[in-house]
Amino acid sequence: MTARSTHTLRGHILHPDGEFRPGSLSFGLQISGLTTEAAPADLYILPGFIDTHIHGGAGGDTMDGPAGIQKLARLHAQHGTTTLLPTTITHRWPEVLAALRGVREVMDAGGVVGGADIVGAHLEGPFISPGRLGAQPPHAVLPQPDLTAELLALDVIRAVTLAPELPGALELARALAGRGVRIGIGHTRADADTVSAFLHTLHELGARTCATHLYNAMGGIEGRTPGAAGALLADPHAFLEVILDSVHVHPTAFLLAHAAAPGRVLLITDAMRAAGLGDGPSELGGQPVTVQGGKATLADGTIAGSVLTLDVALRNAVRLGLPLPEVSRMLSAAPAASLGLTDRGELRVGLRADLTVLDADLNVKAVYVGGQAIPLQPTEAHA
Ligand SMILES: [Zn+2]
Repeated sequence: MTARSTHTLRGHILHPDGEFRPGSLSFGLQISGLTTEAAPADLYILPGFIDTHIHGGAGGDTMDGPAGIQKLARLHAQHGTTTLLPTTITHRWPEVLAALRGVREVMDAGGVVGGADIVGAHLEGPFISPGRLGAQPPHAVLPQPDLTAELLALDVIRAVTLAPELPGALELARALAGRGVRIGIGHTRADADTVSAFLHTLHELGARTCATHLYNAMGGIEGRTPGAAGALLADPHAFLEVILDSVHVHPTAFLLAHAAAPGRVLLITDAMRAAGLGDGPSELGGQPVTVQGGKATLADGTIAGSVLTLDVALRNAVRLGLPLPEVSRMLSAAPAASLGLTDRGELRVGLRADLTVLDADLNVKAVYVGGQAIPLQPTEAHA
């Protein structure tokens, strides 16, 4: 690790108690000082955003290997994301393993210069329901001990998405949770009782749990059949990923999650390679995708991954009436807690200097990853 110079930023600093106070923040790799004093009122200093579910951006995809991971890590850092989990898609097993090895390779090489910090991979499938693929290609398989052993040997997975109703799902979840992996429930046809029992067993083991893109690819909520989404909302411990891009989730559904599970909602992008490229043709897991007006769809009209970035998700949440400190929590403290990351997610002396600075219109003005400034490219006016 090279020595880093000390920087000082002045503005309205978001403290862990949820209050903005004017002051200065000094940092190298870590935050070394926080003061309260007069400071510019039009700069907000927030903990950097943490995206636990992100496939791609700027034309790169996790499945491309290190070159794709570098592209997405740099693109999303431009939008305030300072930590992320490159996320695989359901695919043939050798390709999934190769993508995970790519994530490991990038991490072992010291990460992505000018990009977000990479703290592991999110394995989305292939252990999902063939009846609830969403936009995942049809390569779902059942969990098996030999596949689990291959995953554990790679030592790179930090989060997994699986369908709890599959035979062998609990054994897989147990093995991964034993390594500290966050267990995500998603792409599932399980009913509420199945999901509740699954979560209960995992919590007794001390596992961290999450809904993978709550509401999407898990069916709806009815009074007599609350479904997986109902069980996840009602659970006292499970974190809840939400794609707040005005395509995947109705605003009221998002507000319901926030009301039912304060502190447990975390915003993700689920971004695909087309993020940051504007409208046009793209690709997801080998399938052609069309992006039009910010909506990505497969040829049959199925909503594919998003083209969201987390700065846009932040502005969407604020537009729905949430106070900025609560939204910040969904972007930093909650995802950090969901992954068991204790060295980031808040602005406190001794934590990593992962910082996102916003102007009064909530546009990204500066980003620091581990104390290093990310050179920001000029962008068109934000939506
Ligand atoms: Zn995804």
